[in-house]
Amino acid sequence: MAYGVALRGTAVRALCGKGNSLNLNSNGLKSVPEFVSRFPNLSVLLLCHNSISALPTHLQSLCHLTELNLGNNALREFPAVLSHLGSLRKLYLYRNKIDVVSPDAIGHLGNLVVLNLNHNNIQRLPPEIGRLRKLQQLSMLDNKLEELPGEVGCLKKLSELNLTFNNLSRLPRQLYFCRNLIKLYAARNRLTNLPEGITALVKLRVLDVAGNMLSIFPMEVHWTELYCEENWLIKLKPVPILPHPENLSLKELAARFVLLEVRKQFSLINLSLPHYPELNDLLSGSNCCTECNGPFLNTWVECVHFVNLKKDMNLRSSLTIPVRSLLCSYKCFRAQGPCYYAVERK
Ligand SMILES: [Zn+2]
Repeated sequence: MAYGVALRGTAVRALCGKGNSLNLNSNGLKSVPEFVSRFPNLSVLLLCHNSISALPTHLQSLCHLTELNLGNNALREFPAVLSHLGSLRKLYLYRNKIDVVSPDAIGHLGNLVVLNLNHNNIQRLPPEIGRLRKLQQLSMLDNKLEELPGEVGCLKKLSELNLTFNNLSRLPRQLYFCRNLIKLYAARNRLTNLPEGITALVKLRVLDVAGNMLSIFPMEVHWTELYCEENWLIKLKPVPILPHPENLSLKELAARFVLLEVRKQFSLINLSLPHYPELNDLLSGSNCCTECNGPFLNTWVECVHFVNLKKDMNLRSSLTIPVRSLLCSYKCFRAQGPCYYAVERK
């Protein structure tokens, strides 16, 4: 075929110039030319802006391929042959028509650092996504994701996660384990809550949750960029809490005593705790007071205070956001009384 000859010319020039990369972008291809597999040392293969609807099995000979770009094509499935391309570090499959991500194929891509699946029709990611232990960037912008598997918590190297424009109603609490996360984009979903553990992501600098259904933020926010327009945030017209004297149960008092002892490295109670698994289970649901940092089993009162992003956090936005506070006692409530308000849920 005439374009076949032209393509071979392109291929030879590309291979001579860059040694091991082949650029076949925008060539009107409906399939991957057979000659591609005759370059087993190929490390970069660019095939974007074509009309490729499936990948041939002969691609499995490209065992040194580290970058594959198939953006802007007509793929309907996550290609099965990718399971043989375990050397891949960057995989771009944006703007295709993929609706299912094959667990088998993705589970074999343990060297991936960048995975871009933007603008497809994907409803769910298989748990095998957790096997991509080297993944740093996962981008799923504009898909139909309804939930994210808890296994994303295994992606310890993940620094950027883009989930904008999906149908997520919650984020998995295991996100807490992605301690290297720096940028989290989850705008335009249906989130009603952010997992409380998100505050443990100390490297997180950018959080975009605009256009969701959030009413309140977790405790102790520390992001340098926060986008939260168009949510259902509690307005700054709350009802002050009517203070009531505390009447703590014996169980609560005992739990608080034990929790304080647990903080001391050499206390007898701390050392004996491993022998009482039931007590451990009970105490695992404990929390800390926003005001005094003291431990408690049951919140004395859950309330909200308002943080001005500009004034209190030095951010550019002058928005005021509601932040959840958990208090252990009337004393702590009174210490900053005027700042805390009850949350009126309708
Ligand atoms: Zn307190």
